Amino acid sequence: MVKKERVFTPKPKSEFLSGTCVKCGTENIFYSNASHDVKCKQCGEILAYKTGGRVEITENLGEEIKRLDYA
Ligand SMILES: [Zn+2]
Repeated sequence: MVKKERVFTPKPKSEFLSGTCVKCGTENIFYSNASHDVKCKQCGEILAYKTGGRVEITENLGEEIKRLDYA
């Protein structure tokens, strides 16, 4: 019997995040490694800047940022 090797599955570096726009209170879902600035879908306020890697969240996004699990 061949010993089953544990397959190492690295956690994805990127994820979907959900946060609230402090300007208008709209909840926005965005990608943590977005390739463009994240803007509020309601008022257009920039919520996070693209950096080439993980986005840089601005003060326009509420402090509570949820991570969305997706399988
Ligand atoms: Zn907004």
